[in-house]
Formats: sequence, structure tokens, C-alpha cells
Amino acid sequence: MQAFEATNYYFDQAARRLDLSENIRTLLMTPDREVRVEVAIELDSGKIGNFIGYRVQHDNARGPYKGGLRYHPAVDQDEARSLASLMTWKTAVVDLPFGGAKGGVNCDPTKLSRGELERLTRKFIEKIHDMIGPDKDIPAPDMGTDAQVMAWIMNEYGKYEGFQPACVTGKPVEFHGSAGREAATGFGLAIVTREMLGRSNRTVAGTTFAIQGYGNVGSFTARFLGQMGGKIVAVSDAYGAIVNPEGLDLAELDRHVSVSHKVVGYKGGDAATNEQLLTMSVDVLIPAALGGVFDRDLARAVQAGLIVEAANGPTWPEADEVFVERGIPVVPDVLANAGGVVVSYFEWVQNLQHFRWPIEQVQREEERRLVDAFREIHDLAERKSVSLRTAAFMKAISRVGRAKILGGI
Ligand code: GLU
Repeated sequence: MQAFEATNYYFDQAARRLDLSENIRTLLMTPDREVRVEVAIELDSGKIGNFIGYRVQHDNARGPYKGGLRYHPAVDQDEARSLASLMTWKTAVVDLPFGGAKGGVNCDPTKLSRGELERLTRKFIEKIHDMIGPDKDIPAPDMGTDAQVMAWIMNEYGKYEGFQPACVTGKPVEFHGSAGREAATGFGLAIVTREMLGRSNRTVAGTTFAIQGYGNVGSFTARFLGQMGGKIVAVSDAYGAIVNPEGLDLAELDRHVSVSHKVVGYKGGDAATNEQLLTMSVDVLIPAALGGVFDRDLARAVQAGLIVEAANGPTWPEADEVFVERGIPVVPDVLANAGGVVVSYFEWVQNLQHFRWPIEQVQREEERRLVDAFREIHDLAERKSVSLRTAAFMKAISRVGRAKILGGI
């Protein structure tokens, strides 16, 4: 099964319960537009680097297409399609006036110099500038891209269309970005986790967490959960995991990571494998790395009591079925990690109004939106006796379907 099929499986599970006609289902599943471009640049060595870039615009019934750009060796058309579709449902789950898109460039950004990354970004935007823009399609950071890449995008786009800071979100704060955007996904994750634990009269304080992935999302999630009194007992990255049943000292760990750029080697914990982290006995397991982590066998081996999906698409449908059978609740990606795009929306609004919000306002509004969305989805799941994922897709499909009907096809 490929990633887009997996997303459509989840879509179908919800669509069946909504009694959607076959035509409407096809209409909602099919991406509006898919673009594949060659991104050729001169490498520092003087050779030509040939890269392939993608942008998939899935649906814009509720507003301009919205979604990140990923620089990673696994980027391809199918992945972009799957993630674009997830963005349509994600923006609808948190009721933002956006549709869904995703894209990226197939490359290994860790092997490119800063100059090469800048040339790659500018060339990619040169190729797709006519399909993006503040009212058309607004990119943002995703795996392998950051605020600097977004700044280059804004600058490159401006060469064609003039000063339009709202053409991209996740920019540096001192370059038309929003306070709180960098931390937004991790902050949101912590809020949603707190709400979920609260439903069984538990608190973050005193709860143990294992986090797979210590990039932007994983590290901010750890920080906010730690601030709420949570005990982070294991974290990992592409090189391996570290575990400390007493709880990791996050400030020390961050100092270590800032020097060695990996979590392994940190002295305040024991080394472990990613597999050990994913199957350890812990209250909450948070996959915050690549998609497609949980297959059937791994799902059977998981010992956590709750899974909160920080990554996009970490759970294959076969694993999702096992989690449902085993009664392990999963807070799905489209709800759990929506804090990033929520604050992207605030950044877009601020850019359009040329007005800046203080961090307190950003976090207050982000929290309110996520708490409301969580309550809606959780209540729907209970009312209909379905999983949180199916409830989230049901809510999103209804909203997107309604917009399509109101706007006319
Ligand atoms: N890439 C992030 C996501 O998958 C953020 C998208 C955005 O802010 O547009 O949700």
C-alpha cells in the first residue's frame, strides 16, 4: 500500500458513515492539480544537480490551498498527494479558511550547502511561482525546510509579484513571520495531549512520554510537555534513542544536541534503538518523525496506553486496525499536529493586515482553536462510537463537502 492509498482508506472509512455518493467521494478524493518540475542548479563543485520538485493542490473549496514544502530523499508524487489530501482534512478539522496542498523537492538537504539550498529553493519557486500566492496556494515549512527557506521563497516570489509576505508562512519572526510559529506544532501537540489525558481524569504532570523524532516538532513537544510536568523518558532521532526512566533533563539534552546534532551520546540516558523506544512501556507514545512507522507487527508490540501522532501519516491502516482492536486510542495527525497550520493562518492574517500580534495572543488563540476542535472531534467519536481518526475525517469531509455544494461544482 502506498501513502495516498492509506489516506484514502481513512477517508473511505469516514465517508461510508456519512453516506456520501460515489461521485462526491471521487470528487473529494481526487487532487485538483499536480505539478512536477525539474529543479536543476549549479552545485558548489561546478557540476549540475538535477532535482525533481512537486506541488500537489488537493482541494480549495474552503479557501486557498495550504501546506508545507518538504526537502527529503523520500519525496515523490505519491507522498505529496497523500500529504496534500491530509492538509485538506487538517485545515477543515480546525476550521481554517484554507484548502490543502503539499510539495517538496526530492533531495537530501543535509548534503547540500547553504548556497545550494538557496539556489534550489529559488529555482523551485521560479518554476511554480504562477501557481502559488496569498490567495492561491501558501507554502510553509515541513520536514527538511525551515524559516530561512521560507524567507528565500518570499523574496523570490516578490521578484515576480512584488511585496507579498502572505505568499508563504513560517517565515523568520524578524522577516514578516509570526511570533510562536516555530514552536506552534509542538505547543499544539502538548495542548491536545493535555486535553486527551483530561478525558480520563489524568494530567500531563506525572505522565510518562516517549517521543520518536527530535526535530522541530519532537523537541518543542518535549519542551512544552516537560513544562507541564510531564516526564520525558525517551527520545530518538535518525541515529538512535536515549532512555532514562527517571525522566531526561531536557535543558541538558538540548545543549548536547546543539553541539553534536544528535541525541545519541547524551550522557544523561542509556542508548537504545528506535524500535525499543516504540515498544517501551510508557503512558504516551508520540511518533514525531517520518510517515509509515507503524505496521501490523509493530502495532501489536506497542505497550503505550495512548498514541498522539505528531508526524503526518505515521500509522498504516493495518496498524490502525490493531490499535482499535487493542483499545489503544490514537489522536490522529490531522488533529494532533494542526497547531502548525493554525499559527500559519495567524501569520497569513497578520501579513494581510500588516499588523503584528504578541506571542501571548498567538498562543491564546492557538490553544482556543485546538481545544474547541478537540472537543468537537472527541464528542463526535463518542456519539458515533468511532475512533478519533474516523470522527476527525467525518467532521472534515462534511465541512469540505458542504463548501463544495454551497460554492457549486
Ligand atoms: N507542514 C505543516 C503540516 O504538515 C504545516 C503546514 C502549514 O502551516 O501550512 O501541517
